Amino acid sequence: MNNTLGFHSICAKELTDNRTTRPHTLPIYATSSFDFETIQQGINVFQGKEEGHIYGRFGNPTIDTAAKKLAQLESYGQDFEAKAYMFSSGMAAISAVLMGLLKSEDKILTQANIYGGTTTLMREVLQPLGIQSVYVDLKDMNKVEQMLYNDPSIKMVYLETPANPTLACVDIKVISDLSHQYQKWVVIDNTFATPYLQQPLALGADFVIHSTTKYLNGQGNSIAGAVVALDEELMTQRIWKMMKLVGGNCNAWDAWLTYNGMKTLALRMKQHSANAMQVARTLERHEKVERVNYIGLESHPDHALAKQQMRDFGGMLSFELKGGLEAGKVFVDQLQFCTIAPTLGDMDTLIMHPASMSHVGVPREARIANGITDGLIRISVGIENVEDILVDVMTALS
Ligand SMILES: *Cc1c(COP(=O)(O)O)cnc(C)c1O
Repeated sequence: MNNTLGFHSICAKELTDNRTTRPHTLPIYATSSFDFETIQQGINVFQGKEEGHIYGRFGNPTIDTAAKKLAQLESYGQDFEAKAYMFSSGMAAISAVLMGLLKSEDKILTQANIYGGTTTLMREVLQPLGIQSVYVDLKDMNKVEQMLYNDPSIKMVYLETPANPTLACVDIKVISDLSHQYQKWVVIDNTFATPYLQQPLALGADFVIHSTTKYLNGQGNSIAGAVVALDEELMTQRIWKMMKLVGGNCNAWDAWLTYNGMKTLALRMKQHSANAMQVARTLERHEKVERVNYIGLESHPDHALAKQQMRDFGGMLSFELKGGLEAGKVFVDQLQFCTIAPTLGDMDTLIMHPASMSHVGVPREARIANGITDGLIRISVGIENVEDILVDVMTALS
């Protein structure tokens, strides 16, 4: 046919994919739309009578495969298979869940120590739309029950466990059972734990959210998010719909990076956990350290709970130096091997000062009430040789 086509046509025409054998690893499908063989196939796919991709914002084979791997991880060892969608960021995933499930005059029951961006989203975007957030200590079950009982407009309980940066934990099974007695959805941001450490769906949560940017990708080279749940209808009718209409869909490149990152999740989490335990124990013994927050330490108030609902204790810890803020700044500036960066879950060790960085927008009293004191330093312990991390930390301390 090419013999008869004009030059412009040969330039513009899409060729049929000339692949012969099947690629062993997942390709990046960089296409905004998908062809139909016949008009009938197009009609069937549009009407949901036949499986098929339509348009990149609705889904794509690379993105769907990455979502499927995450759904399998969150379903590991259970007799259910969860469904997952990937988003352009953790924040897009959170927005889709909150906006997809709630409407004006509904309320969210949550705690003060969740991701700063989530708190700000609730206050500055959802509240003006008539969706209010009510704060409570989600460990205080009497208080939680009182609020669920007294306020039928609360439709959702939203939490993070372990929470940033004090690693405070909430009993997922207890809060889920209680919330379900009052027909409330339980939504858990599982970014810190990942399904390697904790599977909230198995413990009764309704929706799991991830910033895959962190541990799931683990390479520090992608921004993406995900929502995982068991209820197919809610997932299609509310979450997928919100993704399509608001347009927070993931792109194939970031999904591909995340998919590849997840292949090493178990190995990385194991090493993060082992290294963090050693760093925590070393810090705890040091005379200049006031206190260490690591759920693997018996001294952490939630150690027993973490042991019960998690497989291991992960790579996140925080600590307070004697001498507060000033001592903290001197310490961070002395580090040579560890890097100052406002993210977590990468393979190298990252240090952050929450009071002046991630929680700078949180009023001081609220911050301190949640254990985020002026001198608190957060470490995302990497998977390097632990000796190199320890030498750096000990040198900076002295
Ligand atoms: C980073 C983070 C988010 C936001 O994710 P993005 O991918 O940056 O949008 C949400 N929750 C937690 C716990 C996070 O650490």
